[in-house]
Amino acid sequence: MSPVYTRIQIHKRLVIDMSAIAFELPPEVREACEGLVAFARAEVMPRHEKHRALLDDPRRLYREDGRFSDQAVALIAEVRRAAARAGFYSMCVPQALGGGGLGHLAYYAGWEQLFRLCGPQNWLMLYVISHWAFGPSRLLERATEQARERILGPMMAGDASMCFGLSEPGAGSDAAALSTRAVQQGDGWRISGRKIWTSNAPIADYCIIFAVTDPVLASRREGGISAFLVSTASQGFEVQRIIRLFGHIGGDEAELRLEDVYVERWQLVGELNRGFDAALYGVSLGRIYNSARAVGYGRWALERALEYSRVRQAFGRPIAEYQGVTFPLAESAAELHAAHLMGLNAAALLDKGLPAVKELSMTKGYSVQVGFRAVDRAMQTHGALGFTNELGLYHAWHALRIVNVADGTNEILNRTVVQRLLKGDTEL
Ligand SMILES: Cc1cc2nc3c(=O)[nH]c(=O)nc-3n(C[C@H](O)[C@H](O)[C@H](O)COP(=O)(O)OP(=O)(O)OC[C@H]3O[C@@H](n4cnc5c(N)ncnc54)[C@H](O)[C@@H]3O)c2cc1C
Repeated sequence: MSPVYTRIQIHKRLVIDMSAIAFELPPEVREACEGLVAFARAEVMPRHEKHRALLDDPRRLYREDGRFSDQAVALIAEVRRAAARAGFYSMCVPQALGGGGLGHLAYYAGWEQLFRLCGPQNWLMLYVISHWAFGPSRLLERATEQARERILGPMMAGDASMCFGLSEPGAGSDAAALSTRAVQQGDGWRISGRKIWTSNAPIADYCIIFAVTDPVLASRREGGISAFLVSTASQGFEVQRIIRLFGHIGGDEAELRLEDVYVERWQLVGELNRGFDAALYGVSLGRIYNSARAVGYGRWALERALEYSRVRQAFGRPIAEYQGVTFPLAESAAELHAAHLMGLNAAALLDKGLPAVKELSMTKGYSVQVGFRAVDRAMQTHGALGFTNELGLYHAWHALRIVNVADGTNEILNRTVVQRLLKGDTEL
């Protein structure tokens, strides 16, 4: 791993405090977390402060068609590049791809730190560590040598980004039911179909598209799906519309249309007809990321609620003196503590080379529920103030409500857990 980040001076007390946990994170993971905190304080939060008028105002943040404005896109790229120069962006990308090789535990712990420190307002932090679907990640280990030569340079430098095109209008939870087709033509394929909810697609340079290459195998659920690295500038590739969520006037999710998009053999990601394995691995990374996001936002919100309860007076005393106010916060503390331990454990299992299917499913489902509850309770603690834009609690509330669905709904996660339990995997 590039040790550049160690040069960043840690000038404030670290947010990281592992005293509630009996075991230590590996030194390189701790060091990376400490460096991330310093980096976010030096490079992300001040940048946000400077551009708050743009970043907090939807009328300036989005264009008429719902895409990020050019200024916002430039700021996002600026943060990605700064993080890449400092060694954080690719710190969890395997060394074979030129990254820091830190693995899943660092991925969980690093993201959790950033979400907890920055909260939802300093959202440029989303671009500090390479997101598994938007930037270089272990997924690209499956890419061909030629593909790596073409894209890894700009991806690792934070100059280019990508997206993950699995879900379709007719295939969500049951993602293997997808109907996008890749039909062989000469030494390549022509891809046609539709994708939906594809995050980062409006600004991405590449998209990993999952398509049926063998309809018979696919209908028997025995493979038949392949993954392809597609340039978003390809003829026939179109971002059809930006999807708006929760009343926002713009967004980062898009619906895509592919019409006879030609891809060559070097664009195949992984083995022909075995692309769904890559999809499942990608979703596992997404579950780690979203668990960290939920715990991080939950802890950020809990801390805001505790601070406020100490200073807000009602009936002649701080509201912290009313157990009706503080007991829900104590419950959130216990829930977040449990979720955090689950997140660290699931990530460590992945680092041991175990699929951790049950553990990841339990962790993501539980973390998002308790993170959301912690944010909701923090809103209640703040009274009317809890709903204001300035406080930002509603951003976290929205984000975590959405994460209840993204990368596997709660129901699908429970389904996976039960399937494992019934197969005899009852270790807890
Ligand atoms: C913000 C956001 C970003 C996303 N980003 C991406 C992305 O970048 N790339 C991508 O490919 N996808 C992305 N997705 C899509 C996401 O993966 C799907 O939304 C998710 O898999 C659920 O699919 P669906 O929305 O079609 O719901 P459906 O599958 O239609 O489910 C509808 C309801 O039925 C329930 N249900 C379905 N089957 C069962 C069952 N067997 N048992 C019990 N309940 C069941 C579900 O839990 C849900 O409550 C994103 C989604 C969101 C919200």
